[in-house]
Amino acid sequence: MGSKLLIKDGNIITPSKILKDHCIVIENNRIVGIMPSNTTIDECQSISANGLYVSPGFIDLHVHGGNGSDFMDATAEDIRKIIRYHTQGGTTGLLATTASESHLNIMDAIQALDQIHPVTGAKLLGIHIEGPYFNYNKKGCHLASAIRDPKPEDYLPMLEATDLIRVMTLAPEINGANQLIAELSHRGIVASCGHTNANYDQIQKACELGLQHSTHLYCAMSGIIKNGPQREGGVIESILLMDQLTTEVIADGKHLPPELLKLAVKCKGSNQLAVVTDAQRGAGMPDGIYAFGSKNGTKSIIKNGVATTPDKTGYASSTIQMNQTVRVMRDLADVPLVEATKMASLVPARIIGVDDQLGSIEVGKVADLILFDNNINVHKVIINGKLIEDI
Ligand SMILES: [Zn+2]
Repeated sequence: MGSKLLIKDGNIITPSKILKDHCIVIENNRIVGIMPSNTTIDECQSISANGLYVSPGFIDLHVHGGNGSDFMDATAEDIRKIIRYHTQGGTTGLLATTASESHLNIMDAIQALDQIHPVTGAKLLGIHIEGPYFNYNKKGCHLASAIRDPKPEDYLPMLEATDLIRVMTLAPEINGANQLIAELSHRGIVASCGHTNANYDQIQKACELGLQHSTHLYCAMSGIIKNGPQREGGVIESILLMDQLTTEVIADGKHLPPELLKLAVKCKGSNQLAVVTDAQRGAGMPDGIYAFGSKNGTKSIIKNGVATTPDKTGYASSTIQMNQTVRVMRDLADVPLVEATKMASLVPARIIGVDDQLGSIEVGKVADLILFDNNINVHKVIINGKLIEDI
């Protein structure tokens, strides 16, 4: 007989509505029933949600670090520290995100992640390779000396070192990018445009080759491009306009003002827009100076919980957890809680093709669930149908 767990007296957030005062029956690691709390159910182990929201666990497609560590540190201990921090914020699945660095450093990070799978807490759903194939002028806080054009001898060893790579962020307009997009598409890896100065035509061409997603909308990308008297769409307009492109926003309440979040919601809807943390090493740490990427990477300054580049001309990742992104979408962008939750769970699950198993509270899906209150403070985390006791 399999183990049965009942989560009772909760307000359950499904993809379309909130089921007030309902319970969820979990058997082994799956959701097997969702019903009103007054339904008679056989005696079994139970958790009372006490009127809290029961939500699908959050899935973060873009996270570099936390708790003083970065995935580029490439040790099992660092990976566990990051995962622990983000599990506390309701993340039950994430893509470990690498930074633009030397071939050797990226390979070390990939290999460390490949070997640690699986871990306690949030699931390592894969790797997001962010850079180094960027437009130099849109490098953001990434290491300038590491920005380069994609060459098969550089990227093929990365793609072949593991089957965990799910997303790669690159600039479609640089030399060799088209070939790389086709290669990613062929391998079933999501090609995402980011750190890019492309124009509308270049994005359209990239979409034909398999470009599917776009990284941190509005950040490190071109907007309307003006050549003499003529204007053309940049990356931002392309993303907002093209239905075939999904996107993500860093919903920390700092990177983007309410009007830009609202514009993204208006154009992309709640089915094509994911929220991400893009959190860095200094997330969960006191104010101070923290390296972005590996320990000898670029420096960022964290003051009052906000990370900027040393010259303060740009933000350098964030210091948040996923629950903050839902709070920001609800409170700053006026997105209903059901939709904001979807942007943090079902949409990211769909983007990386794991929505048949994860991302929503539906019978048959894996029971990765969280309990949070009206301020989106996370009280309990359940992964594979088991309460995580020590987070
Ligand atoms: Zn970035």
